[in-house]
Amino acid sequence: MLVAAVKTRTPEEIKAAIHGGIHIIGHNYVQEAALIKGTVTDPVKWHMIGHLQRNKVKMAVQIFDMIETIDSVRLAKEVNRQCDKLNKMMPVLIEVNSGKESNKTGVLPENVVSLIEQINLLPNLQIQGLMTMGPRFGNPEDARPYFKATRAVFEQIKKLKIPHIEMRYLSMGMSNSYKIAIEEGANMVRIGTRLFGARNP
Ligand SMILES: *Cc1c(COP(=O)(O)O)cnc(C)c1O
Repeated sequence: MLVAAVKTRTPEEIKAAIHGGIHIIGHNYVQEAALIKGTVTDPVKWHMIGHLQRNKVKMAVQIFDMIETIDSVRLAKEVNRQCDKLNKMMPVLIEVNSGKESNKTGVLPENVVSLIEQINLLPNLQIQGLMTMGPRFGNPEDARPYFKATRAVFEQIKKLKIPHIEMRYLSMGMSNSYKIAIEEGANMVRIGTRLFGARNP
């Protein structure tokens, strides 16, 4: 599945992408996504792909069809609480900090199972897979070990057969790394630059 990563893009660029066949829009920012969504009438899906702050969850659960960036129990509980109010079931992915970078969001690979076990019974959350960014490299081949490591966690969780957990989606790979990510098992890629051109600062 192709997710168009649309941060910094105008509503016109996004509509052009939709008319070109894009079905899933990925946004990093809740407020910007709300503004753009208000101008898009096509039946596309909206994915939150940026770090989600708890004070934005209330708005986020009204806008998004999937949250790809769950990385803590507190965030998961807030998503569950706000979804409960709307009587909504939210598909989510767990964001993995596959590079173990101290300045990055996401849960460490060795802590993913524990996080899932703590949130899998939240009734308004449907855990459907994993997402990772991985460290940024000039040479995408260097990203391969991080994609492999995330895939390994994905397979490990599948084998555990935890009730209510589906390991369907493995979201990894961006413009410069998507081919490597797909080779390593990604079935969801998030592409910005390759669709829209270089981002304006
Ligand atoms: C910006 C972004 C992308 C896409 O990056 P490109 O290199 O422009 O393809 C993918 N995922 C996330 C989370 C992003 O913020």
